[in-house]
Amino acid sequence: MNNSIADIVNNDLCVGCGICVSESKSSKMIWNQYGFLVPKLDDSFNETAIKVCPFNTSPEDSVRDEDHLANIFLKDAKNIDDKIGKFENTYVGYSKANREKSSSGGLATYIFEQLLRRKIVNHIFVVKQVNGTYAYQWFNEAEHILKVSKTRYIPVTLENLFKEIDQKDGKVAVSGVACFTKAIRLKQHYKPEYKEKIPFIVGIICGGLKSSFFSDYLAQKSGIEGSYSKQEYRIKDPASNAVDYSFGAFNQENKFYQMKMKTVGDMWGTGLFKANACDFCDDVTTELADISLGDAWLDPYTKDGKGTSVIVSRTQFADQIIKEGILKKELSVTTLSLDSFKASQAGSFKHRQLGESFRLNKLKKSKSILPYKRKRMLKSIPMEFKIVQNARMTIRKASLEIWKNTQKSELFDLEILPYKKRLKRKTRWYHRIQNLRLKLGLKKL
Ligand SMILES: Cc1cc2nc3c(=O)[nH]c(=O)nc-3n(C[C@H](O)[C@H](O)[C@H](O)COP(=O)(O)OP(=O)(O)OC[C@H]3O[C@@H](n4cnc5c(N)ncnc54)[C@H](O)[C@@H]3O)c2cc1C
Repeated sequence: MNNSIADIVNNDLCVGCGICVSESKSSKMIWNQYGFLVPKLDDSFNETAIKVCPFNTSPEDSVRDEDHLANIFLKDAKNIDDKIGKFENTYVGYSKANREKSSSGGLATYIFEQLLRRKIVNHIFVVKQVNGTYAYQWFNEAEHILKVSKTRYIPVTLENLFKEIDQKDGKVAVSGVACFTKAIRLKQHYKPEYKEKIPFIVGIICGGLKSSFFSDYLAQKSGIEGSYSKQEYRIKDPASNAVDYSFGAFNQENKFYQMKMKTVGDMWGTGLFKANACDFCDDVTTELADISLGDAWLDPYTKDGKGTSVIVSRTQFADQIIKEGILKKELSVTTLSLDSFKASQAGSFKHRQLGESFRLNKLKKSKSILPYKRKRMLKSIPMEFKIVQNARMTIRKASLEIWKNTQKSELFDLEILPYKKRLKRKTRWYHRIQNLRLKLGLKKL
């Protein structure tokens, strides 16, 4: 059955990419009550609006999922893998000049700098500070590229990309997480003039989009009372390991507060403050970008607090940028085996790809609309993993409800505690049963 943008938003399946707004006369992105950006629902959307939505339930056959879109946009890629899609090569390392000021190894900053310096594009559309917070903005100063470094875990939207792109001379490169990249590809499919206009997408590997509540909570936990600005999500500790990073922000008096993320416990595996739609995204590695970049959550790289990137090149041109960077000694990057690359995102593959079928079934029972998903990803999982999935879905939803009602970190911590304990207990049981399966010679997940 055909659906509309209103169905996507009302069924909590919107990720806030904002591409549908460019297919509307008057809609714009607004904040919802759970700290996410969503399109304002009015009757101004045209019939292409739903077609460019990454969570459309009834896409046209030729572009129905990431596999079909990859066949269009990455048709020359020489390798293909079930989990990571089409690609040229996998690498690990960092950019010598950008590592210090970046989130991981500074590869995203390096690639954008190269695209601007080589005049492959004239503008980049990336996430950058504005009025103390962060939003997608236009940028074209290769010599000041570090101004656009670092990933920001706060809702941002591509709303203005297609509203403003026609006024920009020359070509444009964009950074995007998986669902945002899919939306750009869909737009390029339906409006082919944007294929040439946007010749390069830098894919940011994403474990889930966070509500603005996540930033509010972290600001309070770091000691700030009241409003905050210029928050930093990935302050590295070169003397420690890569996971041991800090959050920091300025309070109203311009005093900087900082806190190690380990003091708030696991914020990613638990799915706290995460968008519901992210539980229905099985594209772990931004399969439709020209190049995908993530954290090297992998021994020995995690031991290095300065940060290291994993890289998947998906076009020959993207691969060439990496290879030339290595030759010019601007990149300290080596090839990484496919298995090691996949190991760096193991938790995300397990949750997003293996757990998806179970979550979709739950969605079906709740009478929600169902986003179209790749059938090959839908696998059955053992009972112990279903129990963990259930607990994760519950705590995700609870975290948003509790923050909406309390907006105080102490109260939030008290109310979320039973959910955390339940999830921890169930996860412990899951690991015990999995180990038992291994001892009995049965396959582990
Ligand atoms: C919500 C989110 C979840 C993530 N989850 C994972 C994960 O599970 N596993 C993993 O390996 N990596 C994850 N990452 C990616 C990781 O945090 C790094 O961003 C990535 O490794 C690139 O690092 P870098 O040093 O190359 O980037 P940098 O050189 O620091 O540059 C970052 C680039 O990303 C752009 N950017 C900043 N914020 C956003 C945003 N919200 N959306 C799109 N572009 C943005 C900036 O403008 C800049 O161009 C996530 C990123 C985000 C935004």
